[in-house]
Amino acid sequence: MAEDSFTPVTYSPEERNKIRAQIDSGTKQLSCPRCEGKLEVEGPITVPTATRPYYRVSCKPCRRMAFLS
Ligand SMILES: [Zn+2]
Repeated sequence: MAEDSFTPVTYSPEERNKIRAQIDSGTKQLSCPRCEGKLEVEGPITVPTATRPYYRVSCKPCRRMAFLS
């Protein structure tokens, strides 16, 4: 079966902080801290043990993703 070869790598802590700052700012359109392209966002995802909703963001050109609250 031909599965797409998107194998995400996680963002660095510094990059995650930049993405989280964008989420906190309430912006609808998140941009990738590496390429400044459009980040794809999934969420908010409710995690039972978490106090904040989680978001899964990914950038296909960079093959990076992050799962953060
Ligand atoms: Zn990117």
